[in-house]
Order: sequence, then structure tokens, then C-alpha cells
Amino acid sequence: MSRPGQSSQAATRLLRSLFSDYYRGARLELPPDMEKREFAFQYLGSHTYHRHLSFRDEKSLRGHLVSKAPAHAYYSSALFLFPEIPNMEEKKRLGSDLIFDIDADDLPQCTAVPRAYVCLSCGHAFRASGVNRCPRCGSGELENVDTLSQDCMARALENLRRLHRVLSKDLGLPRARAYFSGSRGYHLHVECDDRCRSMDSEDRRELVDYLKGTGLEIERVLGLGSRRRLSKDLLVPQPSEPGWRGRLGEAIALAHGSLPLGTTLAQLEEIAGGRLDWEVYVERARVHVDEKVTIDVHRLVRIPGSINGKTGLPVTRVDLEAAPEEALPQCSWSPFRERVFLVKMLHDTPGPISIFGETLRARRGQLLRLDGCVAAYLLLKGLAEPVADKS
Ligand SMILES: [Zn+2]
Repeated sequence: MSRPGQSSQAATRLLRSLFSDYYRGARLELPPDMEKREFAFQYLGSHTYHRHLSFRDEKSLRGHLVSKAPAHAYYSSALFLFPEIPNMEEKKRLGSDLIFDIDADDLPQCTAVPRAYVCLSCGHAFRASGVNRCPRCGSGELENVDTLSQDCMARALENLRRLHRVLSKDLGLPRARAYFSGSRGYHLHVECDDRCRSMDSEDRRELVDYLKGTGLEIERVLGLGSRRRLSKDLLVPQPSEPGWRGRLGEAIALAHGSLPLGTTLAQLEEIAGGRLDWEVYVERARVHVDEKVTIDVHRLVRIPGSINGKTGLPVTRVDLEAAPEEALPQCSWSPFRERVFLVKMLHDTPGPISIFGETLRARRGQLLRLDGCVAAYLLLKGLAEPVADKS
């Protein structure tokens, strides 16, 4: 019997052929200096990374993607003189792009949202939050089998937009491309000049601290002084101000509408109906990014346009100016959406589960005719296997 997280051989064969077909015509967004990048892949049915590959041009990369049909495809955020040499020192790093990753399930409002799991050891299907052991058999081998709620993805998107605003306004880095990661969040690739590429990990950490508000001294930002007393003539931060004052100004305007210039903190206290809880405004102004990703100058980045083998959806460009609902992941983004597959369920779902906006509830052994978005997801998770369709 196939276990979740491990597709059956028939599933792997089908997925390989689907991915391969997709890559023949897929629109990939590659960096102009791709010959200086290391490429890395994880192939379907394998758990190891194949690293230190390099490709001269899109055609040779596409040939590899079509013939190998990888589950995961990456290039390095770093540029190297010798990208194909395995030894990191000898690769000779020339600089690194500035990359941000926002994961919806790491956001404070979303970490406690229950998710659907199947236990790899005993097959128990259940819903829980923050678990790492099966409540029935105690095994640590759990597979998450639903996608994040649209609410949590919308919060991640809000963070992405805030990130872009702060980078543009406060750091002079307005040119960036945003992508849905294919699974649980968004990536932002800043179009870096030489100065930005040469930032070391320490510089990048400072940048992350500024975005997250780590070590923020709110009294200083507001001009309160050490006694935290509200002097009558202190002014409310306005969105047009630079730095953290401007970010707080935006959070205040979101909560209370825009306030006229010259509004004092004492007046804001009246508007807010009592003592001001600055932590609430700070939280709304914070940008939650995965700091490991930004600080690491040797990071691997998913190739925009490549399929994320956890879900079957490609890394998809999102328009930061578009209406939010257009930037939330949906099954219509699946390259397999137009096809129908007959599959047999290998496990129960823990009640109805949500897969990029589609709802599914099924029992082990059940035969289902499903569209390619949901079918590919179930096959990749090892929850179902393909059945020859004789109809
Ligand atoms: Zn179990």
C-alpha cells in the first residue's frame, strides 16, 4: 500500500508525464544572468536534491525540465563565477539577489488554524493545529493534506503589499516581482542593483529587523520620552512621514480613517475611546517575513513558472496592484485544470478538506472522477492513485 507523502509508482508515472508536457510550453521567468546561477532539482519519487547544475540558456534548461520532469526546480539567489563547482568557496560568489518569503501559516493569526492531516504510520485522518505527533499511534510522520484558508492567504498577501510599500518608500527599492510560491505563501524578488546585491548577511538582517520592528523603541518613534507620558502637543504619526512613523501613520489611518495634520496624540486617544495600545498599531505595521530566507546569501529560489511538487500548482506571478481576490491561489491556475482523471482514494479525508478553493470529502477505496488540479494534489500527497479510465 502506498503511504501518504509517497506517491505510488503509477501516480509518479502519470505526474512525470503531466509535468513533462507542461514544461514543453511553460512560461518560465529566468534571470537575465542565468548562466551565473546554480540550478538544483528534486525529482519525483526521490528525496535528494541534485545540485550544482548550470545552464547556458533557457533552451537547455527547458530540455532538462521536459526530460526529467522534476517535482521541485530552483536557481540560486547568488551569482557565481563557477556555478557548477560543488565546493561553495571555489564557486566564487559575485553577489546575491534580495529575496523575501512570506508564509501564511507562520503569521500570528494563522499558526493556530486547524489543518487536515493523515498519519503516515496508521492512516488516521484528523484535523488539528500545532501537532507533530499522531494522536492515535504517536508517530511523528504526519502529512498535511489541505491548503491554507483564503483568509490566511489574504493576510499573507496584505503582508506582501506592505513589504513592497516599505521597500519602495523607505528603502528606494520599488522594482520587484511578486509570486505565489505554489504552496503556502508569496515570494518577492527585488530587482537588485550592484549595491543591493553586495549586501552581506548582517546588512540583510538589519533590513529584516526594520521590517519586523525588532528592537523598535516606540517611545522614541512617538517622541514620548522615557516616562511614556502623553504630552499634549505631540502629533499623531502621518502616513506621509518616512520610516516607522509613516508605517504607524498608515496603521492608524487604517483603524480610524485619515486624521488631519496637526492631530495630537491626546486627540487620538479620544478618537480611539481610551488609552492607546501601541502594540496593536505596531502589529498592523509589521511585515512578517521568513528571516532565514532573506538573510541567507546562498538561498535556492523556486523558478517562477515551475511547478511546486507539494501541490501541483506553478509558481505564479501576482500583480500587486490587482484586486486581492485575483492574487489568491485558485485551481484555475493549475495547468492540469482542463483535464479529468479517475482516481482511487488510498485514505479517508478528515471530513471535507479544501484544496485551493475546491472542497473534497472522500473515503478510502472510493473511485472519483476529478479535475486535474485536485487530482494532481491528491496524487502528489499519496492520498490517491490513478485508475485506467475505460468510460
Ligand atoms: Zn498514527
